[in-house]
Amino acid sequence: MIRPLATALATLLLAGSPLTGAQENVLNLYSARHYQTDEALYANFTKQTGIRINRIEAKEDELLERIRNEGASSPADVFITVDAARLAKADELGLFAPVKSKVLEERIPAQLRSPDWFAFSTRARVIIHNREAVRADDVQNYEDLAAPKLKGKVCSRSGSHPYNLSLMAAMIAQMGEAKAEEWARGVVANFARSPKGGDTDQIKAVAAGECGVAVSNTYYLVRLLRSEKPEDRKAIERIGIVWPNQKAQGAHINISGGGMLKTAPHKDAAVKFLEYLASDEAQRYFADGNNEWPVVPTVKVQNAALESLGRFKADPLPVATLSRNAATAQKIYDRAGWK
Ligand code: FE
Repeated sequence: MIRPLATALATLLLAGSPLTGAQENVLNLYSARHYQTDEALYANFTKQTGIRINRIEAKEDELLERIRNEGASSPADVFITVDAARLAKADELGLFAPVKSKVLEERIPAQLRSPDWFAFSTRARVIIHNREAVRADDVQNYEDLAAPKLKGKVCSRSGSHPYNLSLMAAMIAQMGEAKAEEWARGVVANFARSPKGGDTDQIKAVAAGECGVAVSNTYYLVRLLRSEKPEDRKAIERIGIVWPNQKAQGAHINISGGGMLKTAPHKDAAVKFLEYLASDEAQRYFADGNNEWPVVPTVKVQNAALESLGRFKADPLPVATLSRNAATAQKIYDRAGWK
């Protein structure tokens, strides 16, 4: 009899231990960021504040489902993820609590936050082309991807992926729904293959000549630039990177970010953590670790590969607009057959 009881106890303890009650000096972080380099970012917070971080990592949909199921008794304090479209989802579900923080308001530019959540890093969605197959001059704008001369040359990841949803959300803001749909149809008509894989797969397919042109988030390119693997070096040599729409609104910018949950048991720790993410030190982790740009303009980046991308004009569109257009973006892709 002793054995099963001990086992049951052990199970209970295990189930209870990672997520503790309000009285403890901990922060329960639900994270859909999946970058190994984030470890140091969290360890540093604990070192500075003494607040231990219990991290639950999963895909954003699973995490959101979990927070909803846990309801009022959810141990989650902070939810962080990448992409404005995903933050929009959490916002729509009414999961975030508004955070009033002078630190966050002063450090994070207004277009990179909403009352409920904050961006902590940015990335641009750029055009990449095979130097031999497509001229840079022909792909200076997102609009060009729909031009008939690129027939059979465009590769893409799924239209349902948040990165592309946010890009479409920006296109809607820029040109209106009808024109954005026309654009999507034009791009679909140019596909070299059915959408598949992630951004890195598109980069490699462009390098291999399977497609002439694609779009990618910048940090995937910087990752390749920093790679010492010969095949990555070769891939990066074969492609050109274009900052899109430089004579118009600028390159589409997306973010990683997060917010405090309405039901957070450790609200003080949650605000401290969000403020920490906007600190110089944490901001440098985003830049130097995951090759993203800090949101705090005064932070100095020490990432030669990231800096080698140079300066560019970024679309100043508020990221909150991206989230508002996310649902419409999906409908347009569905109608256009961008699977
Ligand atoms: Fe990514």
